[in-house]
Amino acid sequence: MKIKINTIFCFLLFFTLFTEGVAQTTKPTFQGQTQTGEKVDTRNHAIIPQWRGKQILGDVTFDNEFDGARLNGITQDNDSSYTAIIAAENYPINPSAWYAFKVTAKTPRTIWVHLTYLNAKHRYIPKISRDGRTWQTVDSSDYLLEKDTAKTPRTFQENALSESAFVRLKIDDKPLWVVAQELMTSKVVTEWSESLLKKRFVSSEIIGKTPQNRPLNCLRIGEDKTDAKVMIVIGRLHPPEVTGTFALQSFVESLCADSETAKKFRKAYSVFVIPMMNPDGVDNGHWRHNIGGIDLNRDWADFNQPETQIVRDFLRKKINGTDRKLYFGIDFHSTWDDIFYTNTTDKPTNMDGLIKRWFTELEKAIPDYKVNARPSKVQLNSVISKAFFNREFNAEALVYEVGDNTSREFTAMKSRTAAENLMQLALEYLGK
Ligand SMILES: [Zn+2]
Repeated sequence: MKIKINTIFCFLLFFTLFTEGVAQTTKPTFQGQTQTGEKVDTRNHAIIPQWRGKQILGDVTFDNEFDGARLNGITQDNDSSYTAIIAAENYPINPSAWYAFKVTAKTPRTIWVHLTYLNAKHRYIPKISRDGRTWQTVDSSDYLLEKDTAKTPRTFQENALSESAFVRLKIDDKPLWVVAQELMTSKVVTEWSESLLKKRFVSSEIIGKTPQNRPLNCLRIGEDKTDAKVMIVIGRLHPPEVTGTFALQSFVESLCADSETAKKFRKAYSVFVIPMMNPDGVDNGHWRHNIGGIDLNRDWADFNQPETQIVRDFLRKKINGTDRKLYFGIDFHSTWDDIFYTNTTDKPTNMDGLIKRWFTELEKAIPDYKVNARPSKVQLNSVISKAFFNREFNAEALVYEVGDNTSREFTAMKSRTAAENLMQLALEYLGK
């Protein structure tokens, strides 16, 4: 049995390396999600909570008793291999099978875990950690895809995914975290927000609570106490979209930096930041939805969910019936590759042409970088955040998408550059 499994792994490894090699040279430009923004019913949809606890199989213990985890079942196949079953909070759902668990062994050993999914395929390359804070991607020799994808064109989205995957783990009596993406739970993001509060021009406010009583924190960055010129930054509507959080953090840190541009910018503009819009979904390890079982980025027309209602009401109270204006709104997400989803509109925005000029500046600032943007028309019933920011407040707005596997260093650099360029342009609009 052991020989047979090893033979299969070698075979799979050959194909994995072969197809990765092909992907390097033929990677097409990501064309964006196909049906972004279609109208759907956003009234509550039942979810299946996962059982949480420790599963002890001989000397080996699997544990999903922590925020952000998802492991729905585990079985032992033989002395050294196990099968993990991972399921979504409900269906239908997009293919973002998010998993996380801890594993320990009484005596040191090497095991294989077969990552399998209920009505889904394998998407995220496993990351491991000894402390739950610092992560490394598993070595390619310890990670094998089940299905040979050489026969199908290696494009983006679901048809590029393997049915399942195998990961080899060296375990002992200290916990080893195994996760789909770095664990950026509501606690981790709150700690990051709190670190910004040391700056005198940053404050925070709880603008509402989720159904599971988690706070929606809103940071305010700026020196103009009247908040005459407003921008909004939101993120993490979708739990597995951790690379979007990385980009949001770099972006917001740049707004708080000591650069001359940032200092001038903060005197003129007030930026409100809600970095974690779906803490219930994130901490429960959901693949897509909030605790009401709904995709929050399909609820910006009907507002059936508390999280979208809270942000809508916050903005309405801040802007409507006042002389204040919302100039810019940005919503950070992750997808198959870097892309921007923008608006096309019939009437000029409060800062017309800002995003177009911003993209031009971004291409000038980053060598060999080309902006990949997909516009869509803002309509009365458009259900995405960017459409709401434009439709109701006449703001320039977009969705900033980061690839699941885009290098973390490039993500941070691009996002810092983007923030710096945006601040410069916003000042130019004021003639400063
Ligand atoms: Zn998303």
